[in-house]
Amino acid sequence: MQKVPEEWREREQDREMEQVVRTEQEQDRETLMMELTRLVQKAVRDSSWWERRGIDCSILAMAFISLPAAFLLLGSSQVACFVLGLLVMGVAHAVITVKGTHLASHGALSESAAWQRFWAVFFIEVCGSFTARAGVKAHVKMHHAHTNVIGLGDSSTWKVPFLPRSVYLFIAPLAVPIITPVVAMGQLKGQPLWAVVRTVVCVCVGVYSQYVLLRSVSGLDCGPALLVMLLTRAMFSLPYIHVNIFQHIGLPMFSPSRRPKRIYQMTHGVLNLPRNPLLDWTFGHSLINCHVEHHLFPSLSDNMCLKVKPIVSRYLKEKSLPYQEDSYLSRLCLFFHKYQELMVWAPPITDLVGMQ
Ligand SMILES: [Zn+2]
Repeated sequence: MQKVPEEWREREQDREMEQVVRTEQEQDRETLMMELTRLVQKAVRDSSWWERRGIDCSILAMAFISLPAAFLLLGSSQVACFVLGLLVMGVAHAVITVKGTHLASHGALSESAAWQRFWAVFFIEVCGSFTARAGVKAHVKMHHAHTNVIGLGDSSTWKVPFLPRSVYLFIAPLAVPIITPVVAMGQLKGQPLWAVVRTVVCVCVGVYSQYVLLRSVSGLDCGPALLVMLLTRAMFSLPYIHVNIFQHIGLPMFSPSRRPKRIYQMTHGVLNLPRNPLLDWTFGHSLINCHVEHHLFPSLSDNMCLKVKPIVSRYLKEKSLPYQEDSYLSRLCLFFHKYQELMVWAPPITDLVGMQ
């Protein structure tokens, strides 16, 4: 008769022990993120304005400054000059609409809240032909807040399962410049009237001003002007789609009810590509070689992500956390060969045992 209460007591002690271990583990995880945040904050405090924002703002300014030369070159009758004009305008367009819109959506271009709002509307709506409200919500509030959480931030908006792999990876991205404003118009449903009017006006101003300048400054006819717009806007859409899927899809996915702590979520669900001079400039470090750093500290500019990269990678390696890196070509081969599994079927959920 004595045996039952003895067993109960032991079971009770085991439960208490488990609770203590769990609480200690949780505190450990909190300390990991807090400790890393302190290291990064110190690096940010020790950096000048030039390092924190100046370098990235200058790259964006250079993209705008190069545009008059591009319009003039596109007016040349010499093929080499015309092609150079196309390249300059295509690169400038990518810098402004990928790097610019991304940094602006995170408010990384200014410290003032009013300027952050202004730059978001300018870059996302006027330059990027999309709606700032829907863009910021999808990228910052969903993708960043719920990285790789199924149904919330699982990058499934990038999946078009009915397209064959070669079409999806190499042909469909060329339609991005046409699809973007069409999707933006669909996103306006349910938005307040002032936001709808602002988006429509800003998108039209952006598209129409490029057309008018190609007609008046470059002296192109209607058809060639529209073709140049399509070519320059689509020049980087292949790597744009590739980068967006390479860095999250195929990595561990989490269930909304059993999501891991932030540091585990980001280190398991985000991958860095190697440095690439062209993509570093056009897309920015936060989308290429510092994507892990960007997901851990989303408000940092591209240059600051690059500056804290050694701190973050060393810290994660020291704490035996993953620091995932892979090459562009290796990811492209993976997506090409496992297209069905990664882009068509539903992804399996990863339970990081003991880490929830
Ligand atoms: Zn981001």
